[in-house]
Order: sequence, then C-alpha cells, then structure tokens
Amino acid sequence: MGPGPISAYPSVLRSMSAPLVGQYDPFMTHAMTETQDLYRQVWGTANEATVLIDGTSRAGIEAALVSLIRPGDRVLVPVFGRFGHLLAEIAERALAEVHTIETAWGQVFPASAIEEAIVRVQPTLLALVQGDTSTTMNQPLDEIGAICAKHGVLFYTDATASLGGNAFEADAWGLDAATAGLQKCLGGPSGSAPLTLSDRAVEVVRSRSKVEAGIREEDDASASDFVRSNYFDLGMILDYWGPRRLNHHTEATSMLYAARECARVLLGEGRDAVIERHRVAGAAMLAGVRALGMDVFGDVAHKMNNVVAVMIPEGVPGDIARQAMLEDFGIEIGTSFGPLHGRVWRIGTMGYNARKDAVLTTLAALEAILRRFGAPVPAGAGVEAAADVFAGRG
Ligand SMILES: *Cc1c(COP(=O)(O)O)cnc(C)c1O
Repeated sequence: MGPGPISAYPSVLRSMSAPLVGQYDPFMTHAMTETQDLYRQVWGTANEATVLIDGTSRAGIEAALVSLIRPGDRVLVPVFGRFGHLLAEIAERALAEVHTIETAWGQVFPASAIEEAIVRVQPTLLALVQGDTSTTMNQPLDEIGAICAKHGVLFYTDATASLGGNAFEADAWGLDAATAGLQKCLGGPSGSAPLTLSDRAVEVVRSRSKVEAGIREEDDASASDFVRSNYFDLGMILDYWGPRRLNHHTEATSMLYAARECARVLLGEGRDAVIERHRVAGAAMLAGVRALGMDVFGDVAHKMNNVVAVMIPEGVPGDIARQAMLEDFGIEIGTSFGPLHGRVWRIGTMGYNARKDAVLTTLAALEAILRRFGAPVPAGAGVEAAADVFAGRG
C-alpha cells in the first residue's frame, strides 16, 4: 500500500508466464499491434505513434526528452516535487538550456503561472509532471495544451504516477508527448514504459533519427543533429513498431504481455470505472486516516486519487512504525523524499490495491500500530469512516 511499486493484478502476473516467441513471429507482431491499440484507448488518443519503451518509467521519460530536445533548445520545467527535478536533470543531460519555475511542495501551478513563464522563457518544449508521487499532487493539465499551442511550444508530460487512476486525455488536452510506467495505477510490474507522440512530435523525432547501417537501405538521409542515444532514438523505435518493423532492440516479450494485460484489465473494467474506483478508494483512505486523527499533507483539493501523504504523529518513530506495519501485518506503506523525509508517510490505493478490503485492512493495522507507539487513536474510527465512504455515506 505504498506509493508504488504496488501488488500487480493476478492476471498480469499470469500473462507473464506465457511462452516466449521470436520477435517477428506473427503472434508477437500481432501482440505488439494490439497493445498499441489498447494504449491509444488508455491515453485517450488517436496517435499512430503509441508504443512501449523497454525499461522502467524513467526510460520512457529519457526517450521522449533526448529525442525531442536538440542541444541548445530552451526547455521549461515547472517543478512541484521530486520528479520535476528529474525532468530538469534529464533535459540538462540532453544539453537543453533548462529553465525551471518552482512552487512549494504540496501545491500545484495555476495555468496562468505556466503561461507567464512560457512568455518569458520562450521554450521549444514544456516538460511537466502530471502526478508527482513525492508530494501526492496532481497538476491540472487540461488548459496547458492550448497555451502551448498558442505559443508554439511542444507539451510533454510524465504521467507515470497518475495514468489509470486519474483523468487523462492526451488528445483533448493537447499533449505532444506523454510517458508512463506500469507499477502505479496500471497495476503491473515495473519495466515497461507506455509512450505516445502527436504528429507534431513525430516530425521532430523523425528529423533527428539516424539510419542504422546494415538494417535498412540507405535511401533516407541520416539526420546531422541525430539523437545521441541509439536505444532511445524514438524514430528508430517507431520504425520497429511500425509497418516496416525494422530491427532495433529485442522487444521484452514478457513485459509486452504484462503491459498488454494491464491495459486489458483497465479497458475491460472501463476507463471511467477504474478512475472512479481509484477516486472512491482514495477518498475512503483519506477519510480513514483523518478519522484516526492524522493530518494530511498538501493541498487536498489537488491530491491524486491514488496516494495520500499523512503527517507522522508527534512522538511516533516513523521508520520503526512503518517497519512494524510490514513485519506484523504484511502491509507496506511508503516513506518520503527530500523536505518531507521523516515527516510524512505516503499510503497508496492504486491498481489492484484500490479495493475496499485493502483499504480497511490497512486502516485497521495502522490504528493498532499508532496505538502501540502511544498516539491517541479513537477505536475503530478509521475503518468506520472508510467503510462509510465505500457505502456512499462519506
Ligand atoms: C514513480 C514515478 C516514476 C518512476 O520511474 P521508474 O523509472 O519507473 O522508477 C517516474 N515519474 C513519476 C512521476 C513517478 O511517480
């Protein structure tokens, strides 16, 4: 019940034990094509360029940024938590001229602050996290795409923590690039990064893609300012997933099965229904920890559905209590980074764990542990408040 990685859906684990096939086996290419179509629905996009990057979420981020950023490009990164700093760092490694704006941890940016910075910096790319698990905040994106389009800026977002548990509309919100991972709301293991690119973004990455000698006829000229990574050259990766199926890396077969099953679970239940399940589980956990007398960190109105940060009560030893949750109840909750380290625990309700029994059991265990370490807790209040939310009375 931490902020990710989480317990995977049982069917996702089963899917990973399916037999391995060669990467040009029709079964494999069919599975790839099917997965692209499933993820278009997950992202809310018609983008042809919808693929998986083999690697954890960070591989998706890195592929998007190194392929989209030319050395010297100005990139704007609004930072509201740890992962904004990561985007800035990766953009810097891609030799961008990086400009950041910051807001306090626990807050999000109003669209006007982002537009102001765009006008001042005149970037070619805006790189913005949607849900930052370090602070639990969910940055509203719905007005940002129009602002970027107005100023001719490419719009990238890292939706790793939020996709599948909170609203996301790649096309309606005007995203040019978005990436995610499986180990949060999508309910899978880490190791595959769904990615989608608009036609505008595809134009940029294609213009920077290199021709790999010995793989294809040298009919299309190789770019002179090519992407400085072979593994993350999105032009090459698109040619691998696309109709030409030009050899690049060896697709990670078991992770493809896992990613496909994550999307099938989500779409089988219904995208809106899954987000609603996350909303209810998150609201129940929030009501539960408050009923146990705990304070919640940050601007709750902008909290992601799938994670809550609770202030560790006065006198309770954070790490020892967390360890007792794990050893005595088999329940993992999360610690925190940076300015929040030692001050808050982060409790997740995502993917397979966005369930009533998981929420109620966690609150019962938390009550026992808080009492053991001397915090005054009203008996049964957490479970009762959460159960009320699940019953529609919260
Ligand atoms: C969890 C998380 C990641 C994780 O990246 P990995 O490479 O999969 O460890 C990236 N970005 C955000 C916003 C996250 O919440």
